Amino acid sequence: MQCEEGYLCDVCGGDVENIWESDLYLRYVIGEVDPETLHTTRERHIRCNPTLAQFIVDPEFEQVTVAGDFDKRLLDPAFVAQKQRLVTRGWQRLKEVAHLEGLSLLEYPLPEVREKYA
Ligand SMILES: [Zn+2]
Repeated sequence: MQCEEGYLCDVCGGDVENIWESDLYLRYVIGEVDPETLHTTRERHIRCNPTLAQFIVDPEFEQVTVAGDFDKRLLDPAFVAQKQRLVTRGWQRLKEVAHLEGLSLLEYPLPEVREKYA
């Protein structure tokens, strides 16, 4: 989020003000978006992508629920547990990098994702 103008959400059109609200960066730190496509992928709020947001389980994150086929309560519990661990850690990582100074973009992702790119 180094751009002064900020980025607009592709879903609701609002400003994505903080990195911990960014679906793009969340997917980047968990390894779903690679560094090369980071700047060409559209931005949106985490909450505007509920199928991913529902996997964040953190007291500081207001729980998101999904209506329909992608509701995590209808998915395989083992898959859900694994995905929750990953996405929750990713979100906590975003909160962390927001407060770290001088970190390069390549240092943002979770350790196992960084290893993959190294
Ligand atoms: Zn939005």
